[in-house]
Amino acid sequence: MNSGLPNRESAILFERAQRVIPGGVNSPVRAFQSVGGQPFFVARASGANITDVDGNTYLDFVQSWGASILGHAHPKVIEAIERATREGTTYGAPTQREVELAEQIADSVPGVEMVRLVSSGTEAVMTAVRLARGVTGRDRIIKFAGCYHGHSDAVLAAGGSGVATLGLPDSAGVTRNSVADTLVSAYNQVPTIDSDVACVIVEPVAANMGLVAPSGTFLSSLRAECTKAGALLIFDEVISGFRLGRSGAAGLYGVTADLYTLGKVIGGGLPLAALGGSRDLMSQLAPSGPVYQAGTLSGNPLATAAGLTVLSLLDESIYESIDRRVAHLVDGLHDAISSEGLPVQTPRVQTLSALFFIDRPVLDFEGATRAAKNGIYAKFFQAMLAQNISLAPSAYEVMFVSAAHSDEDIERTIEAASRAARKVAAEL
Ligand SMILES: *Cc1c(COP(=O)(O)O)cnc(C)c1O
Repeated sequence: MNSGLPNRESAILFERAQRVIPGGVNSPVRAFQSVGGQPFFVARASGANITDVDGNTYLDFVQSWGASILGHAHPKVIEAIERATREGTTYGAPTQREVELAEQIADSVPGVEMVRLVSSGTEAVMTAVRLARGVTGRDRIIKFAGCYHGHSDAVLAAGGSGVATLGLPDSAGVTRNSVADTLVSAYNQVPTIDSDVACVIVEPVAANMGLVAPSGTFLSSLRAECTKAGALLIFDEVISGFRLGRSGAAGLYGVTADLYTLGKVIGGGLPLAALGGSRDLMSQLAPSGPVYQAGTLSGNPLATAAGLTVLSLLDESIYESIDRRVAHLVDGLHDAISSEGLPVQTPRVQTLSALFFIDRPVLDFEGATRAAKNGIYAKFFQAMLAQNISLAPSAYEVMFVSAAHSDEDIERTIEAASRAARKVAAEL
């Protein structure tokens, strides 16, 4: 398809897209608005690499926002999906693989005895919040600024990810009433939890405002305060689940939530997410309980085939090798960027890491916003893209290193970062 100009086909598609799709994209951050320029349109991807419709290949640190932990088009995952496809793509009736996936999740995540499969993280969070309100009979929820929990009304206030990227305080169309019961607290500070609070929802490792680790006793204090107040603690592990090891952030920090939401990794690149918790709580969902939830494509047979295959391959050695490469990556990036005189922080929690172009550690959304607003990330992003390295097109996202990223890929990224930092520093 290479037809002269390096981005010609993408540009043509983006123009067509903007006529029939709002902003030309089906999820806002994809539009490159906060980093400038135009998105490349993807033709195919394999392993750590992604190729656009003009034939340019990029080393991909987005990996479908974390949905592809094994890298793109892993042969075993593709084979499982192909096999499943021949048996029908959706039935609207229960299947064996749904049971197996629920069992795997229950075996891995602390405190999870039952699981409900849904199709997106947004749905999982919506249901978890409804369930918390249903079982406690309370209305209020507490969330943390900069945490993203999908795009349902109640949790969109002060959201990270795309909400932050576009500088939106929240969203038009969300009524005052639908957020009247949402309280927003600063990340890494334990809020006062009154007796009218149904649940506290948190990303136990915040990965939608860059990367912000929970400091010191944040999670364990939150746990204790929720228990004291009779409020449920919801860990939104849509990113961290099965990425920070099989037991996610809960396992890593030794803090057990009442409800969990999972997504991304567990769908193996297909639309699948889940919520889970104790038998007592989860039994309150329909049809065994009064809290309603449903889905035409929930537990989709292709998605469970992909998810089960990925989970079957995620052993300790995979996490260790990603962990080692991410450690190497952030050390290298930190050296390369700081030695060109740019301020930089490279927070890391095992396999998750991010870049903040700022001179002091980021502990909350205020810090993340300060880092994003100086505009260095956007320039650095462009200088990396020009060297065929695709970082997230937003300063509020993490870097997703997959099992397919090789040591050579990491080296190449560090070398490119050195050149990119030099260029950006010269322009400041
Ligand atoms: C991605 C994400 C969601 C939303 O999941 P979707 O599948 O995009 O609806 C919710 N919570 C967190 C922590 C996420 O990273």
